[in-house]
Amino acid sequence: MKAKIIETDTAFPETIIFKVKSEKKLKFLPGQFASIKALSKNRAYSICSNPEDNFLEFCIKGTGEISRHLTNLKVGDEIELEGPYGNFIFKNSKKKNIIFVSTGSGIAPIKSLINQAIKDKSKKILLYFGVKKRENLYYEEHFKSLEKENKNFRFIPVFSREGKKRHVLDVIKEDIKDFNDIESYICGVPIMVKEVKEFFLEKGINESDILTEQY
Ligand SMILES: Cc1cc2nc3c(=O)[nH]c(=O)nc-3n(C[C@H](O)[C@H](O)[C@H](O)COP(=O)(O)OP(=O)(O)OC[C@H]3O[C@@H](n4cnc5c(N)ncnc54)[C@H](O)[C@@H]3O)c2cc1C
Repeated sequence: MKAKIIETDTAFPETIIFKVKSEKKLKFLPGQFASIKALSKNRAYSICSNPEDNFLEFCIKGTGEISRHLTNLKVGDEIELEGPYGNFIFKNSKKKNIIFVSTGSGIAPIKSLINQAIKDKSKKILLYFGVKKRENLYYEEHFKSLEKENKNFRFIPVFSREGKKRHVLDVIKEDIKDFNDIESYICGVPIMVKEVKEFFLEKGINESDILTEQY
């Protein structure tokens, strides 16, 4: 279906965050993605917004021909999208602790998932968000204000190319000592997803409690 761009944010290097209004409201679950058609090709993009919003939001990093084309779109331009697709969705399990881990534009589905998870105040929620530098830290204000409003949520940004130059897994290893009663959602580059998942499995988290999506 067709969707019109109603807002863009190009404050981050090589990236566009845009909101679109579609012909019909797309019913989706947090964590799912849409297939966006551009230059006659389809690419998957996770939905950052929430099902109750009257727009869809995407966060797209220009890494190739199609994604770069999308980063140049302007308010009023139309895109073609289909969906929703994907099983990277909230399990609604009884686990007390939820660890979200993401790198770069992998924050897209995680943002929507956290919005759903945070409604249950009995859960302790951690977000480890790895980017190169602070200038790449999407949604910093959003997650900081979520942290202020929700005592059960902690936001841990991790920078790989400035300050202590660490990766998300380094910080997770330092921070977390008790691996009981945990479920985890990991999204980002394949090497990070693989290493964090392997570490969690070593620590005894059940494979069925570790959901992953890689770009
Ligand atoms: C579930 C999912 C969700 C994603 N969400 C996001 C997101 O929120 N933000 C974001 O920036 N990126 C996201 N991506 C990555 C995105 O789909 C593109 O792969 C990325 O933007 C690069 O596309 P490109 O064509 O510009 O780059 P290119 O380097 O030109 O393409 C990447 C390579 O993968 C191939 N390829 C990529 N997608 C497809 C496809 N659908 N069918 C066939 N071949 C393909 C291309 O042929 C090429 O070889 C997601 C990927 C997946 C699988």
